[in-house]
Amino acid sequence: MQSKRAQAYDNWKVYSSEGKIMFRCNRKKISWYLSRNLANQIAHDSIQLNFQTKGLGHVDNTYYLEDKSNLCVCCGASENLTMHHVVPDMYRRHMPEIVKSHASYDVLLMCIRCHTSYEKTANELKKKIAIDFNMPLNGNGQGQIRLYNNIKIKKAASALNRKGIPEDRMRELKNIVFTWHQQTTDKTKNDKLNNIIEKALMLPDYERNGEFVEHGKYVVNQLLKDYHHLKRWPKLEGFIYLWRDHFLKTMKPKFLSQFWKVDNNIYIDR
Ligand SMILES: [Zn+2]
Repeated sequence: MQSKRAQAYDNWKVYSSEGKIMFRCNRKKISWYLSRNLANQIAHDSIQLNFQTKGLGHVDNTYYLEDKSNLCVCCGASENLTMHHVVPDMYRRHMPEIVKSHASYDVLLMCIRCHTSYEKTANELKKKIAIDFNMPLNGNGQGQIRLYNNIKIKKAASALNRKGIPEDRMRELKNIVFTWHQQTTDKTKNDKLNNIIEKALMLPDYERNGEFVEHGKYVVNQLLKDYHHLKRWPKLEGFIYLWRDHFLKTMKPKFLSQFWKVDNNIYIDR
């Protein structure tokens, strides 16, 4: 969940060099165009690009062109607002760039109260997806592997720092750390026991498991599979529509634009 201050939308208008409104954006993006002399300011809230663009932005999609309110799309609250990602980030981050770049459509302004209440039902949908795809939410296998050998060496090293250890036990412990040290370092290096102990104590207890399968990544890969040659992914489209539809049915957002549609294009138009 990303926290944003109330002024998420500044509602600046960007016109094409032919004078057609192309899209709305915030002050930051406007400054970007102006500072590079790519546009001229033509009104207090509008700029006109002074170069010909390839496409006309969102000229056919009213949702992008209308004024956006700095209100929770569900209850109309104007405070404690946050950006809500309609498609959870655990899936979104694994999607192709041409889908991810289009993400602003699926980022809606919501108050924290509505956001929290929706998250509960969103979790139910995630559980259902986990069953449908036969992939648990916390992934398949263990994310990390415990390194028992490192732990054994560290225990020996830390015991060597203690006083009052019987001599034969001391010999065993030294043997453990010296063997490890000899196997892992340059043979010619003649480290003192204290240095070896210090190095041993820094050994990690865990390492990342390369075999681990993340839930979000697995689900998205399944949705993309078989369609890479098309650069259009029908199953992925369905998945995004599923989340949009779930959001609309659950929250019945009274302050969301009537032009926000479940089946709006998921790809960036370039
Ligand atoms: Zn709200």
